[in-house]
Amino acid sequence: MFKLSALRLRVFRRCRLRYKYQYVDRLPARPSPQDVVGALVHATLRDFFAHVAGHERDEERLIILLNERWQALAFRLGSPAEREAWRQRAEAQMRRFSHQHDLSLQPLALEAYYEVPVSERVTLIGRIDRLDEEPDGGLHLIDYKTGDRPPEVDVEQLRFYAIMLERKLSRSVRRASYFFLEEGDVWSIHPTREELAEGLTRALATAENMVGEHDFPATIGRHCAGCHYLGVCAERDKIAQLRQEEGW
Ligand code: SF4
Repeated sequence: MFKLSALRLRVFRRCRLRYKYQYVDRLPARPSPQDVVGALVHATLRDFFAHVAGHERDEERLIILLNERWQALAFRLGSPAEREAWRQRAEAQMRRFSHQHDLSLQPLALEAYYEVPVSERVTLIGRIDRLDEEPDGGLHLIDYKTGDRPPEVDVEQLRFYAIMLERKLSRSVRRASYFFLEEGDVWSIHPTREELAEGLTRALATAENMVGEHDFPATIGRHCAGCHYLGVCAERDKIAQLRQEEGW
């Protein structure tokens, strides 16, 4: 069975050479400081809703949880000055979150992992940060984003998760949202049947292309600056030259 995640789809669509490094050659990638801090913030929010009683949840409790986890990870974040800058960023995200959202609600699921067969050959897989219930009984899936908000929001990832959840739970997804924790924005869609059917058709077609791909051409652009495989990329000299010319 071919296991397809939203990340796998995104990587293939953006750069097939990166896809080869990541999913075919399975080269190890060292997590960036952003990845480390993102994982910490996700774990803090998960444990806050999972282990702190609703009436005890407040801003300071959230910061205490963050700081407890911080000690174990801080050594992976460079110099003391860099570590402090990352800590302040994470703390600001948590404080912003606590001012903007209802801390007392009880989510239906936290970081639940799903595997959902959608054809004879393809299974969708993924972990959903948080699942809430709307007042009308519909589902609201939430994905936390800890990096800077990108110029274009990835609607396909939210549809992918909605397809997975509806198939698995036999319930309607009314809303699917990104919580951009750095900016304090919430960006939502209300997926329709047609959009989810189209999203599944596209995902299955891309999975077929993944299986049939042999050349794995590179797609060079500004996204290369954040690629985990830049150090080993066959195009790194060309990319370095482009970065110098264009200043990114
Ligand atoms: S550095 Fe750019 S071209 Fe190279 S694998 Fe990564 S995304 Fe692709």
